[in-house]
Amino acid sequence: MMTAAATNYISRLRPLRLPRVCVAITDSDPSALVDKAEALIRDNTFLEFRLDYLPRPLLALPKIKRLMEYHPHVVAIATCRRAASGGKFQGSLASQLDILAKAGASGCQLLDIELQSAAKCKPAQVQRLRGRSALILSYHDFRATKNLETTLEKMVAIPADFYKIVSTAATLYDNVTMMKFLEKNGDRHSLIGLCMGEQGIISRLLGVRAGSVFTFASVSPDEKTAPGQVTAQELRNTYRIEQVDVATRVYGVAGDPVAHSLSPAIMNAALRRENVNGVYLALHAKTLKDLLSCVRDIPIHGLSITMPYKEAVLKHLDNTDSHTTKIGACNTVVRAQDGKLYGFNTDAAGIVRPLEQRITIEKAKILVLGAGGAARAAVFGLKERGAEVYILNRTTGPAQKLAHQARARIVKRADLKKLTFDVIINATPVGMGNTRESPLNENEINTRYLFEMIYDPAETRLMKMAKERGAEAIPGIEMFVHQAARQFEIWTGKPAPWDDMMRVVTLALQERTARNAAKEVKK
Ligand code: NAP
Repeated sequence: MMTAAATNYISRLRPLRLPRVCVAITDSDPSALVDKAEALIRDNTFLEFRLDYLPRPLLALPKIKRLMEYHPHVVAIATCRRAASGGKFQGSLASQLDILAKAGASGCQLLDIELQSAAKCKPAQVQRLRGRSALILSYHDFRATKNLETTLEKMVAIPADFYKIVSTAATLYDNVTMMKFLEKNGDRHSLIGLCMGEQGIISRLLGVRAGSVFTFASVSPDEKTAPGQVTAQELRNTYRIEQVDVATRVYGVAGDPVAHSLSPAIMNAALRRENVNGVYLALHAKTLKDLLSCVRDIPIHGLSITMPYKEAVLKHLDNTDSHTTKIGACNTVVRAQDGKLYGFNTDAAGIVRPLEQRITIEKAKILVLGAGGAARAAVFGLKERGAEVYILNRTTGPAQKLAHQARARIVKRADLKKLTFDVIINATPVGMGNTRESPLNENEINTRYLFEMIYDPAETRLMKMAKERGAEAIPGIEMFVHQAARQFEIWTGKPAPWDDMMRVVTLALQERTARNAAKEVKK
C-alpha cells in the first residue's frame, strides 16, 4: 500500500517521467563528485550520487543542494550503500539513515536503501525517509540470479516507492529469468531490475521494455559502479536505449569470448543508419544450449556466430543453404517468423566482394594459407566464382581434405619461391595482436594482391612485406565489413550502409590501438 507521502511524490514525479537511464556518479572528493554531475547535466537529467564513495558523505550535501536548486529539472538518487551490502560506506546504520535523510533535504528526490539496512530499522525510521523523497528499496545479489519472487515478497513487506532487484547473470538465460520476473510483477510494483556481469547486457538494454522503470549507466568505462555496467553514452548512442520498444528486434554476436568484438559497434551503426528498429548485443555464451534457449525465449532475431561455435551450431539449425553446408561452418543465423533457425555463411562474401572490386575472379590464381573455417569459406567461395585455388596449410590432413572437397590444389611450401599468384590470402591467425609474425618469408610472397584476414593489427608484418615487394595489400577490415554487411542484408532485406560501417569500425580499431599504446606506456 502506498502512503500519502508516496502518492504525493509520484504525482509530482509523473509529469517529469523518469528518464530511462540513470547515471551513477562516484568520486572520493565531494567537489569532484558535484563537478562531474555539473558536466553531465546537459545530456543526463537523471543522476545517482554514490555518497558511499566519499570518506565523509555529509560534506557533499551543501554542494548537491546548490546544484539541485540551480538545475530544478534534474532528478537525483542519493545512495550510501553499506559495505556489508556491496557498497563502500563503513559507518553505522544510524549514520546511513542520517545521511540519506539529509540528502533528501538537500534536494535528492529519490533515496536508495538496501533491504538489509531497512530490515534492521524500525518501520517508522524507514518511512520517515519518505517525507519529502521517494524511497527505493534495493537488493543486490553479487553471485546469481535466483529467488527473485521470494526476494520481492520480502521486500514489499516494507512500504517503498520503488523496488530494485539487481542480480548477477551467470548465464545468458539469467537475463530471461530477470525479464520474465519484471513482466510478471511490473504492473503491481514500480520495479527496477537488471543483471550485473558481462552476461547481463541483455537485461541492461531490454529490462526497460520488460517493466524496469529505468536502468543504470556509468559515466565512463573506468567508473563502473557494478560489473558489466555500460556507459550512458554507449546506452544512448550505440544501443539507442531510448528507442527500445516492444517491436525492437534483438540481434547479437555469440561466442566465447566476445568482450572485444567490434560487431556491436558496426552493426548498431548500420541499424541506426538504416532506421531499423533493432539492437545488437555482445552475447558471451559459455554453452550453445544457453544461447539457443535465449534465442527462443527473448526472442533473438539474428545472430553472428563466432569462435568456438561456427561448426557446432550447425546441427541445431532447422536449415542451412548448400554453400554453408559445404563449408561446414555457419557465421550467421536468422530466426524466421515461424521461429525456425536458418544458417548462412557470409565469410565467403567477405572475401569475394573486396576481390571482385579489384580483379576478375574467374581464372585468377589464388593461394589460400590455412585450412580452417575461414579458409574453407574462402576456398569454396572463390571456386564457385571460377578461380584457380591453391591451398597451403601447416598440417597436410585438413588441406588435403579441403582440396579434395572443393576441387582445389595443394602446394608445398618448398615450391612457393618459384610460384606467382594473383592473390595470396592469409586465413591463419599468424600475425595477430602484437606477435609481429608472418606465415610467409619475403621471397615466398610473389603476388599482385595480398589479402590479409587479420584486422588487429590493421597492418600485419605480412602486409608490410607484400607492399615492399610491390603488391597491393587488402586489409582484414574489408573482409570484416563485407561479411557483416551481408549479414545485415540477410537480416533486414536492406542494402547495408557499407561506408558508414567501414568508418565506424576503422575508428573503433584506431581507438583500441591508441588505448593499447597508452597502456603500454603506463607499464
Ligand atoms: P581456425 O578454424 O582455427 O583455422 C586456423 C588455421 O590456421 C588452420 O588451418 C591452422 O592450421 C592454421 N594455423 C593456426 N596457427 C598456425 C600457425 N602458428 N602457423 C601456421 N598455421 C597456423 O580459424 P579461422 O576461423 O579459420 O580463422 C583464421 C583467421 O582468419 C583468424 O585470424 C581469424 O581472426 C581470421 N578471420 C577474419 C575474419 C574477418 O572478418 N576479417 C573472419 C573470419 C576469420 P592447422 O590445420 O595446422 O591447425
